[in-house]
Amino acid sequence: MSQIPVFDGHNDTLLKLELGAGTPRERSFFDRAARDHIDLPRARKGRFAGGLFAIYVPSQLGDALKVRYDPDDPANFAEVAQPDALAFTLRMFARALRLERESAGEVRICRTAAEIRAAMADGKLAMVMHVEGAEAIDADMTALEVLHAAGLRSLGPVWSRPNIFGDGVPMACPSSPDTGPGLTDAGKELVRACNRLKIMVDLSHLTEKGFWDVAALSDRPLVASHSNAHAVCPSARNLTDRQLDAIAESRGLAGLNFHVAFLRPDGANISDTPLEVMVRHTDHMLSRLGEDGVALGSDFDGCMVPRAVGDVAGLPVLLQAFREAGYGEELIEKIAWKNWLSVLERTWN
Ligand SMILES: [Zn+2]
Repeated sequence: MSQIPVFDGHNDTLLKLELGAGTPRERSFFDRAARDHIDLPRARKGRFAGGLFAIYVPSQLGDALKVRYDPDDPANFAEVAQPDALAFTLRMFARALRLERESAGEVRICRTAAEIRAAMADGKLAMVMHVEGAEAIDADMTALEVLHAAGLRSLGPVWSRPNIFGDGVPMACPSSPDTGPGLTDAGKELVRACNRLKIMVDLSHLTEKGFWDVAALSDRPLVASHSNAHAVCPSARNLTDRQLDAIAESRGLAGLNFHVAFLRPDGANISDTPLEVMVRHTDHMLSRLGEDGVALGSDFDGCMVPRAVGDVAGLPVLLQAFREAGYGEELIEKIAWKNWLSVLERTWN
């Protein structure tokens, strides 16, 4: 099957490693695990060349192991205080830096597109640091400056809960993504600061109003790292055709999210979800975004993946489904990694 590498827009592997530490669920990134989605041996098997690694702060920090992201449990969507979020963010960032150090050169935290290309050429795993939900950032942006200096290159202003910068969509289906207010004044300042520092602004999880606020402000390509087509699955987490058209106009991209509840038209959490549904989203996204605007944003280690893919080692199965749907090798390469590299280059340069 496919020998095409994948550069992916979103995973929660660092969170899985952080929450598991010191518990029976502890695992090493360097050993093959029987559960979860990404470790180095399985990444190699699936030709996962790297991607955006999220730093995410769970709402239930005191009882993090109980986090199940149950959409019906409001405790999972409670606001987090900035000092708590910053402390957890620094812990996760330190974990990533340690992971790079302990990898004996096999993992590289990349800060430029050239560094990603070099890591891919050398067969090393390229890790781009992403913050999902800006709870750790203070209104005067000091934490943003320091995190940027440490290697942060991508940031989503909100996760699916409110913070000082704006509001996010609930995991509701069927639902419009127009579920609440957009960016606050601090949120608009955050977008300007990201533009200045050349940190990618990620639109996934934002309310539709927030999306349009970023679109009006940002001077960079619009990117939704892990969001699907609302026309196929009417989840609040997915993008309407109008949003997809705005992304296309900015020469941005959207990354296909593998979470079954964001794929299936019925929004159900059922792992027995056919690959055909992933192809349907990709077809629709291609029709609005064009061949340069669609990429992957798996959400590995943060979601329920269709059984046929299973984990990161199953990526070639998805690329094979694209092939069987009639996509040419050149298009598959664009979706698998080239479009991400191109949009990051245009965002960071
Ligand atoms: Zn997410």
